[in-house]
Amino acid sequence: MAICHLNCFIAVIFVRMNNRQLFQQHVAQTSPSPVGIEIVSALGNYIYDTEGNKYLDLIGGISVCNIGHRHPAVVAAIKKQADEYLHVMVYGELVQSPQVKYAKLLADHLPKSLDCIYFTNSGAEATEGALKLARRATGRTDVISCNKSYHGNTLGALSVMGDEYWRNAFRPLLPGVWHYDYNSAALIDAINEQTACVIIETIQGEAGVVTPDENWIKQLRSRCTETGALLIFDEIQCGFGRTGKLWGFEHYSVVPDIVLLGKALGGGMPLGAFVSSHELMQSLTNNPVLGHITTFGGHPVCCAAGMAGMKALLDEQLMHGVAEKEKLFHSLLKHPGIKAVRSKGLLIAVELQSAEQVMETLQICLGKGLFSDWFLFAPNCVRIAPPLTITNEEIVSACGILLGSLS
Ligand code: PLP
Repeated sequence: MAICHLNCFIAVIFVRMNNRQLFQQHVAQTSPSPVGIEIVSALGNYIYDTEGNKYLDLIGGISVCNIGHRHPAVVAAIKKQADEYLHVMVYGELVQSPQVKYAKLLADHLPKSLDCIYFTNSGAEATEGALKLARRATGRTDVISCNKSYHGNTLGALSVMGDEYWRNAFRPLLPGVWHYDYNSAALIDAINEQTACVIIETIQGEAGVVTPDENWIKQLRSRCTETGALLIFDEIQCGFGRTGKLWGFEHYSVVPDIVLLGKALGGGMPLGAFVSSHELMQSLTNNPVLGHITTFGGHPVCCAAGMAGMKALLDEQLMHGVAEKEKLFHSLLKHPGIKAVRSKGLLIAVELQSAEQVMETLQICLGKGLFSDWFLFAPNCVRIAPPLTITNEEIVSACGILLGSLS
């Protein structure tokens, strides 16, 4: 009898654990201090929690929600596809119209030489696929990457990531990867006939928004062409209108051999892609066949959602307001506590005095209904990468809260 009471008592304790406690206990934790607000819904530019608080989303799921949360066209496409079919067969064996249509839409909006899309589950898998493609196509193994670059967290992607603090604990990583400073002549000088590929973010995100010098990126293209090294641009964070053009590389009139897509590609659903010419991609079909295999990459629901999202981005001309909104942020973000504001479109880093000040500021902002974040390699910067649908009034309000939190 006593044991029964004890069991009931323990059961009651477990029943009473709230979601936040269960989150700590059963959802794998890698963040020492998760934000931890419990989400009840998200719509447009706002996130809502279970305690009735509303947050203006200044980071859009880290550059995923470029068209806002739960765009009606995306939700409708998901529902429609869910009524037809979900997963049927590993990638690339069956003709699935959401994949085919989305690949065509993407190809129509990319340079002609980027017409073949391999859909993956994530950005990191796109990086893996691209590195494999470059090695396979060139028969070379060396890879050149940038310091402070971020291309994902799987082992290959981690090998090309440009920060020793995050790499070191996971060694040994891929051999033959060489890191140089972004925008440096040393990087260009290092490219030679052993180089399989050079991988860069077209605009560096986690470094705290660093843009390429126009001459440098053009020289990079020329040197890769001269030596037969493939040039990979990672557009996972800066693509899909974030910088005011559909693709970041359009600002520099330079076309890569392979482009990486992710984040906003899925319209809020998980989807990545590596894209090249059809001819180049063919090298993954022999010796070995099935040169890259994925079960869920290009899932029909994700492709349907992504395509609806991209169409909404284009039809609603969301990119067109980006430059004006960027200017408005710059005009408002003036404060003695701000050291610098770096941006490309609505990818903005607000540099403060220290990482500690950023953490305090973020916490105060959260309390005032503004949700933001920091950057992996620039923790002294506040991240601003809202849905492109953010209004001028919301920008004024966000900057007011941010500046108020600084003082
Ligand atoms: N590349 C860039 C530039 C990114 O910002 C990210 C994610 O933040 C990735 C790759 C990795 O994408 P995922 O997290 O979907 O693997």
